[in-house]
Amino acid sequence: MSIASKHFPLKLTDRRMLAPSVAHLSFVRDDGLPLDFIPGQFVQVHFHYADGTATKRSYSLATIHDHAMGPGEAVEIAVSYVAGGAATALFESLPEGGQINASGPYGRFCLMPADANHRYLLIGTGTGVTPYRAMLPLIEQQIRERGIKVVLLFGARTPEELLYGDEFRAFADAHPGNFRFVPCFSRELPDNPHADVRLGYVQQFLDEFLPRADTDIAYLCGNPNMVDACFEMLKGHGLPIPQIRREKYVSSK
Ligand SMILES: Cc1cc2nc3c(=O)[nH]c(=O)nc-3n(C[C@H](O)[C@H](O)[C@H](O)COP(=O)(O)OP(=O)(O)OC[C@H]3O[C@@H](n4cnc5c(N)ncnc54)[C@H](O)[C@@H]3O)c2cc1C
Repeated sequence: MSIASKHFPLKLTDRRMLAPSVAHLSFVRDDGLPLDFIPGQFVQVHFHYADGTATKRSYSLATIHDHAMGPGEAVEIAVSYVAGGAATALFESLPEGGQINASGPYGRFCLMPADANHRYLLIGTGTGVTPYRAMLPLIEQQIRERGIKVVLLFGARTPEELLYGDEFRAFADAHPGNFRFVPCFSRELPDNPHADVRLGYVQQFLDEFLPRADTDIAYLCGNPNMVDACFEMLKGHGLPIPQIRREKYVSSK
């Protein structure tokens, strides 16, 4: 797994709002090199507070890898804007063409080539769903090659906060019987909800999918409280710790 740590410039090429306070940001490496990464990994963004102190923040890569594009390929992240946040201010004020300083990729929150499980339980809240977007091509490959089953439980407050929801629904529709997309809304349901939509928190619906140690590997990403709650539940179902992979979105202030 790559542990490249050299810094490189990223140039903003596109910004679109995925939800009222979540931006999908597309960058290219401004040194002309590709960013080789394994889906599930993250980059760090380095900047300075107003008093000159150096700091950094981490962002999961959302890019759906396109091998045909080669160097200069987009580096995509989804950033949740947090009131008073230092990185939030940096991203909000960054003009198209503007540059930031990044490093990576980092992390081991990835699908492992040696995995021989029957099913992945992918669980995420908010921007914690972005690693799973990046994993879609690998998931498609595993469905094709070994008939893997996947349940994606995605926690959002409202339908407008269901990041990449159309993409996940389309992927589920294209892989019926293998990929279930289960959006869990804590505050309000969409009109005419799909049969797999639930009202409540992701951890309320985990039991419905009968987690099992002999078949499942689980991934938990996003809100630390959700990650801890699901971790305890999965242990309660007998999953050994190596079969519960976690990425907590904590601020690295
Ligand atoms: C491995 C890893 C991957 C991550 N990936 C992503 C990602 O893909 N997208 C993403 O948006 N973030 C991600 N994060 C979180 C991200 O690194 C920052 O913590 C986040 O963007 C807030 O940074 P900030 O400088 O704007 O706010 P800060 O200056 O760090 O915080 C400002 C205030 O907001 C509060 N706060 C911080 N985060 C949140 C939050 N999520 N909700 C509510 N209040 C908050 C803080 O407690 C503080 O009071 C990841 C974190 C880790 C460790």
